[in-house]
Amino acid sequence: MRIILLGEPGAGKGTYSSELVKKFCIPQISTGDMLRASVKAGTPLGRQAQEFMKKGELVPDSVVIELIRERIKEGDAAKGFILDGFPRTLPQAQSLDKMLLSMDISLSAVIKIEVGKAILLKRLTGRRVCKGCGATYNVDTMKPKKEGVCDKCGKELVQRPDDMPQTIENRLAVYQKDTAPLIEFYEKKGLLRPVQCEGEYKDVLGRLFAALEKVAKV
Ligand SMILES: [Zn+2]
Repeated sequence: MRIILLGEPGAGKGTYSSELVKKFCIPQISTGDMLRASVKAGTPLGRQAQEFMKKGELVPDSVVIELIRERIKEGDAAKGFILDGFPRTLPQAQSLDKMLLSMDISLSAVIKIEVGKAILLKRLTGRRVCKGCGATYNVDTMKPKKEGVCDKCGKELVQRPDDMPQTIENRLAVYQKDTAPLIEFYEKKGLLRPVQCEGEYKDVLGRLFAALEKVAKV
């Protein structure tokens, strides 16, 4: 089961990834985490990535693709993986495709998490982060015991500039623009599985698993 999860900021990719990890016993591969880990470990790819990061440049797709290639060769990914945070653009999706093809494997499905804009806005604007330990809260869904104060370390909770309404509108617009061609690409390949992710959590999970069970049987 080789899955890509697509979804807007605030759509719940992290939450659903961890559910899929449990359900299918496959690892979640986050390119952001892998980059940081490889830089820290000083691997050849990590050192390459660091050169770009030092200059304040984006790490090229080719380096990220090689990181993914190395990662999916590891034993725990033999049954599959969930790719999180990559691809974000059409060229990235195309390079990923080529790389997988060269390993003689292919994607099983691309899950598109569908959540209405009103809910995304509410979730994102409600997010609060602790200035001390970085713990995250939500004024609607994950309130601290005392308003504006971190449960874990007692420091002040703040709203990141990223989570201000104007910035969020912009983040969502950028996401739409970048991923629209990606979605079309996977749709044409017959891999796209839109899953409506609003409503009761257990119902959402039911729909998510159902979308993938159909894939598993093919
Ligand atoms: Zn804290």
